[in-house]
Amino acid sequence: MHATDTALILGAGLLGRLLGVSLVRLGWRVHLVEQASGPHTAGGAARVAAAMLAPLAESAVTEPSVVAMGRDALPRWRQLCADLPRPVFFQQNGTLILWHRQDAREASRLAALLQATARQVPGLPSPQALDEAQLSAHEPALAGRFAQGLYLPQEGQLDGRQLLDALLEELHQRAVPLHWNQPTTLAEALAWQRDHPGAWVLDCRGLGAQADWPPGALRGVRGEVVRLHAPDVTLQRPTRLLHPRYPIYIAPKENHHFVIGATEIEADDRSPASVRSTLELLSASYAVHPGFAEARILELNTECRPTLPDNLPAVRQVAPRVLQINGLYRHGYMIAPAVHDAVLEYLQHGTHTLAQRWGLRWERAGVEAPETLHL
Ligand SMILES: Cc1cc2nc3c(=O)[nH]c(=O)nc-3n(C[C@H](O)[C@H](O)[C@H](O)COP(=O)(O)OP(=O)(O)OC[C@H]3O[C@@H](n4cnc5c(N)ncnc54)[C@H](O)[C@@H]3O)c2cc1C
Repeated sequence: MHATDTALILGAGLLGRLLGVSLVRLGWRVHLVEQASGPHTAGGAARVAAAMLAPLAESAVTEPSVVAMGRDALPRWRQLCADLPRPVFFQQNGTLILWHRQDAREASRLAALLQATARQVPGLPSPQALDEAQLSAHEPALAGRFAQGLYLPQEGQLDGRQLLDALLEELHQRAVPLHWNQPTTLAEALAWQRDHPGAWVLDCRGLGAQADWPPGALRGVRGEVVRLHAPDVTLQRPTRLLHPRYPIYIAPKENHHFVIGATEIEADDRSPASVRSTLELLSASYAVHPGFAEARILELNTECRPTLPDNLPAVRQVAPRVLQINGLYRHGYMIAPAVHDAVLEYLQHGTHTLAQRWGLRWERAGVEAPETLHL
């Protein structure tokens, strides 16, 4: 084993765990440090997210590069989940978009936008307009409730928490040292690297890396979500409700569990969910299906999405063999396999073919190393 086959990963969230598992499978020696005290509090944004994999639906709010990463990540997720030691709920049943009659203009605008994206990004299936009968056939639980809808074939979702748990189990099985309760700075990681010449440092701390980016570069975008148990509701796929003030999605997980989300507020604020947001999320879900009236509220969560100024992801090389991978914003699950593949390509071959293909930004910067980190 070469020292170059050793990596210290900061942050056991989505990217940290995914990269950790892949590297250890390749025979690398991996160390993971995580600020949370244990598996049930770790995971940052990843533990709260709805984990929808919806590149066409998201094209309304992001760039073609992110859409292309999301498109290519879908088959990768199927494969990544299948290889894990525990089952992970993964579904590719498409996305349904609904609206009330008064929002029909917004729906036509969105349909035109998505048609244009489907033409522009090769390999994306076109959105399909559904009339009332087709809508009922696709989603019987909504029969008679909406006059029309838009169906985006092949879009997906997974159970983010099951994924995080399965990745953790594989790390345990492969005896990867995972140091809980170890909030770590980039300077400490560089000091560790100095004691382990040739080793790599991968900074996957999401918003926890804020102080190690230029001032103001990495910000949090607040999102509130509700987790419900609704035995009276069965939906086949994530459903989005267009609304001028509070667009929402309903992501059905296994056993009639639902993630209803999400607000998007320009604030670095993880305080508990507000009354207003909670009312809006719950009343919009009730408007989609009255069976949510008797649902039980399991959790109300708030987290911030790690976001760079242009809302796009980036890899930043701050020293030799030191990468900061961040800015996954509201698309972390959707694009993680693509970002992961581009980083692995660089670690193994020193090349950027995939990053260039997807337009994943790769920057260079410089940082100094002071004290030592003892693991
Ligand atoms: C409400 C909400 C809904 C979302 N829905 C979706 C969705 O449907 N689809 C989608 O694709 N994406 C979604 N996202 C986005 C997605 O969750 C994020 O983009 C993704 O989790 C970012 O991954 P990451 O690995 O960079 O960071 P994270 O997943 O946040 O992980 C960072 C980890 O680093 C740890 N850490 C922080 N500081 C330190 C430190 N100093 N030392 C050691 N460890 C540290 C944290 O505890 C955490 O475990 C959503 C996000 C939110 C908030």
